[in-house]
Amino acid sequence: MLSWNTKSSLYEPNLHDINQSEILHIGFDDTDSLEGKCTTHLAFKITRFLLDNSDAQFIDYPLLVRLNPNIPMKTRGNGAVCLRIKAKDHEKIIQELRLIVEKESAINNGANPGVVFLNGNPIPKMIKDFGAIALYDVQSRQIAEKVAKKHCMSYFTFGNGQGIVGSLAAIGSLEEGDYTYEVIAYRTRDNCGTYRQINVTSVINYDNRTFPYTFNNYDQTHRRVLIAPHGPDPVFCGIRGESPEIVVSSLNSLCVEESLEGYMVFRSNQGTDMHLQNQLQLSSIRPYMSGYVVGTVTTTPQVIQGGHLFFAVEDTSGTSRPVAVYEPTGITHIASQLERGDTIQIGCGVHLSNTASQVILNVEYISILSIVQTYDLSNPLCTFCRKKMKSEGRNKGFQCDKCKYRNINAKKIPIPHKRSIQPGLYIPTPKSRRHLTKPPHRYGIEKSSWSRPNAELIKGWFRLL
Ligand SMILES: [Zn+2]
Repeated sequence: MLSWNTKSSLYEPNLHDINQSEILHIGFDDTDSLEGKCTTHLAFKITRFLLDNSDAQFIDYPLLVRLNPNIPMKTRGNGAVCLRIKAKDHEKIIQELRLIVEKESAINNGANPGVVFLNGNPIPKMIKDFGAIALYDVQSRQIAEKVAKKHCMSYFTFGNGQGIVGSLAAIGSLEEGDYTYEVIAYRTRDNCGTYRQINVTSVINYDNRTFPYTFNNYDQTHRRVLIAPHGPDPVFCGIRGESPEIVVSSLNSLCVEESLEGYMVFRSNQGTDMHLQNQLQLSSIRPYMSGYVVGTVTTTPQVIQGGHLFFAVEDTSGTSRPVAVYEPTGITHIASQLERGDTIQIGCGVHLSNTASQVILNVEYISILSIVQTYDLSNPLCTFCRKKMKSEGRNKGFQCDKCKYRNINAKKIPIPHKRSIQPGLYIPTPKSRRHLTKPPHRYGIEKSSWSRPNAELIKGWFRLL
């Protein structure tokens, strides 16, 4: 097995050599639509344009930032992009990118693009805070514009302008905390819409070879390749992992039948659970928030048609809320064995119930913190022949069938019941994980924060084929 240094020490930050005013952060979002345009592909095109037509030097990998997945008004996967470059003529780049975003976005097809520019370094705290909140709550276009104006940022919006939210959030993201990489390979225009032929064995091979430093490659249980989408969009496949080197070498080991346009490495918050880092108080939750709740199970779990499961949880504020565990998560068999009194932590999104009359917590993981002792009630034994006695009816005591001994004061005896679940962490099955879901084997190999390199990124982080 490959041993990979996940805390990459390839680059020593040397910010003194960078003229801070030459740094330009470019955020964009909501350029795609259901019909097949794709924000990461636009990032690929813009990167190509910058490398070919400007003096831009990338001071970080292009960032693929997944924002709060529990918001209804979102693009597919809710991914925004930020490019951090060093360049001399910002004004020229800003005007050129404005034209590219306008031309390449699906503006008449439901996209509402925004593109935002921040000059200089470091990134102001207010912008980082904006990005942090966009991971777990709803951020408004109005606040985004206020923040952008306060920091004299250039920005352009199209359609209803909602894209400014993700664009600004992307600029403020991934400066601190855990992160991963994804190399995304793109199809030529002619191949878009055709079946993606991927040799399954070659996926299984690199998955085995690189474990645990790549993830979401293959679902063993359902025998499904997870790296390729199925729609008409230009993404051929994406490989996620812990270093740029390992995702690129995994991609190069794939047997691909068609000729591709090229590929690019993104740094990302995918696979980090970054949207579930804040604790939600049940007394003050609002629809579409994400986070985690610590509380006590207060109702016995009920399974409904379709295999979905519901129970209620109460936290220290004394507020109780309904919880839903959906069948595709593959963790309903665990949740169904919860008992009243068990203490749990759940990662969840706050949604409106079907009737929209109250909020409901949709579970994204369950961590069982402690289980209560439960008891089965058994009839008492006869004092004389040690046989189980029979109930004479409610509050009428018990009688022995054999010797007819009767005890009016006898009570049922609690027998400790062996619980079939144990404290521990339970995460959805690979096919129902979100982009942001942290896979089980990433626990313990999280990274702290990225040091911005002054040196070049790895060779081959961007490649045309
Ligand atoms: Zn008896």
